[in-house]
Amino acid sequence: MTKYLLGVDIGGTTIKLGIISETGDILDKWEITTQTGEQSDRIPHDIWASLMEHLEANNIDQYDCLGIGAGAPGFVVADTGDIAQAVNLGWMDFPLGDILHDLSGLPVYIENDANIAALGENWLGSGGLAENLVMITLGTGVGGGIIVSGKIVSGTNGMAGEIGHMTMDVHGVKCNCGRNGCLETIASATGIARIAQEHVEKHPESVLTPLYEKKGRLTAKDVFDAVKEKDQVAQDIVNRVMDTLGLAISNITTIVNPYKIIVGGGVSKAGQALLEPLELAFKRYALPRIVEGSTFEIAKLGNDAGIIGGAYLVKQHQS
Ligand SMILES: [Zn+2]
Repeated sequence: MTKYLLGVDIGGTTIKLGIISETGDILDKWEITTQTGEQSDRIPHDIWASLMEHLEANNIDQYDCLGIGAGAPGFVVADTGDIAQAVNLGWMDFPLGDILHDLSGLPVYIENDANIAALGENWLGSGGLAENLVMITLGTGVGGGIIVSGKIVSGTNGMAGEIGHMTMDVHGVKCNCGRNGCLETIASATGIARIAQEHVEKHPESVLTPLYEKKGRLTAKDVFDAVKEKDQVAQDIVNRVMDTLGLAISNITTIVNPYKIIVGGGVSKAGQALLEPLELAFKRYALPRIVEGSTFEIAKLGNDAGIIGGAYLVKQHQS
């Protein structure tokens, strides 16, 4: 009898859902809108109603589903399925796991969204089921997921793998977390844009300068596009950011000694323009034996990483 895994990835604007076979085939995937503010308590009800609708449309009995694996933004206590805090959704100590379990009668497993993305990439993406893996997601913020001996590291109260909040510059700019100089303030799309804007004011020769004057702002994509046009100022910006990211990764690898280091998120679309300077920086700082044992890869699954990782979280609890 075929069994199914239900993967859910809760984001600030949309919730992605998927019905996935035990062997990793996506039978159905779709999105619903995330209710926010006062309505955010409705989210688990929306998720289960939508899952039931799609199970019925696919002629799948809910009792042929092994469970629901869900990723949520913010601070997640994996053991209890509680969301300690999700600022975007307005959740404080929200018992997401319990509510979803009460509604569905199925086993429910909850993890941080960056952690399920790492599990997804490791199962069906660039990871190849590595025993030890570090995934870094470069988007509006910087997320991280660390897999050690095949298991995601959650920590005592859900804070492990918060790579974006490693302090890289004690005198750096203020981070959303209230501290200064976190990796996220430098290597996120927002951080790259900020550094670029600081740079262009001193470098009228860059193609970025007239662009900044025209648009009033720059994006990380503008910077990588300028690198492709061989703009030296853009290359300097990328080198500076990748130097800090490479240093951060080298420190993480001293603890984890991973086989794979996967870079995902919107900024990773830059591909080789990002990986080349990043690997050079990593090699500058990391122990040679660690460098020998590891490879860098760009994430492959894009927006599906979350639902696939959610499904894998369920699959992993079967054995
Ligand atoms: Zn921070």
